[in-house]
Amino acid sequence: MKLRDILRSKGENVVVIRPDAPVHEAMQLLVEHNIGALVVQDGEIDGIFTERDLLRAGAESLERLERDRVRDLMTADVVTVSLDADLQEVMRTMTERRIRHLPVVEDGVLRGIISIGDVVNALRRDIEEENQHLHAYIAGVRA
Ligand code: AMP
Repeated sequence: MKLRDILRSKGENVVVIRPDAPVHEAMQLLVEHNIGALVVQDGEIDGIFTERDLLRAGAESLERLERDRVRDLMTADVVTVSLDADLQEVMRTMTERRIRHLPVVEDGVLRGIISIGDVVNALRRDIEEENQHLHAYIAGVRA
């Protein structure tokens, strides 16, 4: 299954934030949208900011959460995938890099984001579909 198909049902919406936004604004967006990552963007993609970055900064000093800007905590070197990537490639990249979010980029344009939760959902749907086919096949053979 290609990312193109997954995004067709999931949608292309990506919650973004400016690099100079206060960290508190990022926290509010994560909670409001019930998500784990924001793409940091001011024109082009500047970075990615996830719950893990918050945790790391907070563990260092709680003051950082009040004082810092998103750009101070984000990861600037963003790993992305294309619309043509398949689920296997996404799973491999997430596992090897130990990341749970991949922005989907096509011709330099942000087209969506895929999280590890989306991967699990897509796999679950795949398995359910295969089960239905097998049941229909077995029922057909028996009839
Ligand atoms: P995550 O597991 O996605 O919450 O991210 C763990 C760490 O990897 C955090 O420091 C993120 O900023 C960073 N990270 C997450 N996704 C990406 C990505 N696609 N490219 C680069 N870094 C990322």
